[in-house]
Amino acid sequence: MQLDHYVNTLGKHLKSRFGERVHKLPLHAGFTCPNRDGSIGRGGCSFCSVDSFSEERDGSVDGQLAHGRQTIDWVKRYLAYFQAYTNTYAEIAHLRSLYDSALASHGVVGLCVGTRPDCVPDAVLDLLAAYQEQGSEVWLELGLQSAFDETLQRVNRGHGFAEYTATVARAQARKIPVCTHLIIGLPGETPEQSLISLERVLTEGVQGLKLHPLMIVRGSRLALEYDRGELAVLSLTDYVDTAAEMIRRTPAEVIFHRVGASARAPTLIAPDWCSKTLPTNNAIAHNLAKLGAQGYRTARPYPING
Ligand code: SF4
Repeated sequence: MQLDHYVNTLGKHLKSRFGERVHKLPLHAGFTCPNRDGSIGRGGCSFCSVDSFSEERDGSVDGQLAHGRQTIDWVKRYLAYFQAYTNTYAEIAHLRSLYDSALASHGVVGLCVGTRPDCVPDAVLDLLAAYQEQGSEVWLELGLQSAFDETLQRVNRGHGFAEYTATVARAQARKIPVCTHLIIGLPGETPEQSLISLERVLTEGVQGLKLHPLMIVRGSRLALEYDRGELAVLSLTDYVDTAAEMIRRTPAEVIFHRVGASARAPTLIAPDWCSKTLPTNNAIAHNLAKLGAQGYRTARPYPING
């Protein structure tokens, strides 16, 4: 079942803008993270594992993009996705040189820059705004995960919702599209909290969303809690019900970069249904087909718990 019949996907948006398929190529540009090196915190977010990033590193930005192009040679245009760690955590001259090199690489039509909400100085936003003015597709991807400060504390994010709202306001002032990452099934969170997180994010203003389930990955702190039997993971059905309801409550113009996620063995510990993305996407598409597509609930007022 085609997800983009029911969801305004990034793929659909890019095809309409560029007239052909555009693929996102992930990069590991050698960054670290202030929540690991001690400047904000140590040990990182409890769901994050260095292991899941290290296998993706493969030389220069241009070299990684060239390698990515070979693996999907039927696509001719790409977004360079600065994905691993905190991709704004460096001096501005270094960032400019990395981003410039990506944009100069063959077939690259834009940038997605993944980072923390508390690590986006004005100089970075000005740089991204300049790329956008030059015609590049630009996305600032902010890892928020939850709009609840107690949850952010529980998973050792090292920032609260206030840092997110401040950065979104500065990005919106420059008209830089923001894609916010939310995790469903964080420790102690209910499905209703995921719906409230979505509502808070929509209220602040957002152009893109990325949803994914909590995955327990090898090397993370949550893996230790899971091993001790202190943590439950979502079933596929529970994830699909919550994700689909979030999509229904999202206005049609917001672009979903992703509605699921997967990890490979041996990195993935649980849940096992996260070893593949396609069945999750199909189940979400079925739910949306049956109960209403993206935006269905925005046109029909609903009680917050309804
Ligand atoms: S999820 Fe991001 S912010 Fe958290 S530890 Fe990992 S790289 Fe750092």
